[in-house]
Amino acid sequence: MAAWAAFGAGIIIMIAPDIKSAIEHLRRLIDASNVILPFTGAGISTECGIPDFRSPGGLWSKNQPIPFDAFISSQEMRDEAWRRRFVLEESFAKAQPGRGHLALASLYRAGKVPALVTQNIDNLHQASGIAAGDVVELHGNTTYALCLDCSARYALSWVKQKFDPHERAPDCPDCGGFIKTATISFGQSMPAEAMRRAEKLTAACDLFLAIGSSLVVWPAAGFPLMAKRNGAGLVIINREPTEFDGIADLVVRDDIGDVLGAFISH
Ligand code: NAD
Ligand code: ZN
Repeated sequence: MAAWAAFGAGIIIMIAPDIKSAIEHLRRLIDASNVILPFTGAGISTECGIPDFRSPGGLWSKNQPIPFDAFISSQEMRDEAWRRRFVLEESFAKAQPGRGHLALASLYRAGKVPALVTQNIDNLHQASGIAAGDVVELHGNTTYALCLDCSARYALSWVKQKFDPHERAPDCPDCGGFIKTATISFGQSMPAEAMRRAEKLTAACDLFLAIGSSLVVWPAAGFPLMAKRNGAGLVIINREPTEFDGIADLVVRDDIGDVLGAFISH
């Protein structure tokens, strides 16, 4: 097993030496598990044409995010938030599930994955065939909008129609509240029900797959640790190192689609 070991700061990290070994090892872990919890981040969707945040060329290299209090306190910020959202619409609207999404949907159909936790906001897990009720979204969903006061739901096409004439973010026609994509911004409280479900799923799984997340955003980044402490196996698939590689049972630093593509079944 020497080929598997990379030594750093006194710890042994189980990094797959090549993609073939990675797939073989992952298959063994999946076969040996009954309840698998995938936890996905932006990296699973980059092959679908949606950039991640932190890679070079990622969304953050273009714009700093607009914090929640700025959105609430200024019409200009709401206008700007919607302007940026509509610029991204072409990528979001044409994105189709990638190989990673399809592989997880295959494991879901096979009964190995009861539900999935995601930091993504792109709706691609639902589009891959996982029931919306089984996709736990920690950061919400950007493919529709909600009134922040009465929770009325609005299609983006409706918001765009109201926005376009004067590039002005519309307010809720029912209650006058601000309308925002159904996402969680910095400074906005985490959705309590989604957090509760994610914790429960993490406690119940015997294999936790962290896929395409830099694992730096708390509290979401706490889940791999929680899974490990509960005795689950931990696999990290991400092309860059993460802070949790040292406690993982398997670290795969290859392309997500190339690795998970081997697990698609029809
Ligand atoms: P992140 O941008 O912090 O990290 C993504 C990680 O994926 C990076 O470490 C990168 O190296 C890796 N990666 C990218 N493409 C890969 C590939 N093809 N194969 C292997 N690894 C790959 O993303 P995050 O941790 O999910 O957190 C950022 C926040 O960004 C989340 O809260 C999410 O709400 C939001 N976000 C979502 C989307 C989306 O919905 N698709 C896109 C951008 C940002
Ligand atoms: Zn309202």
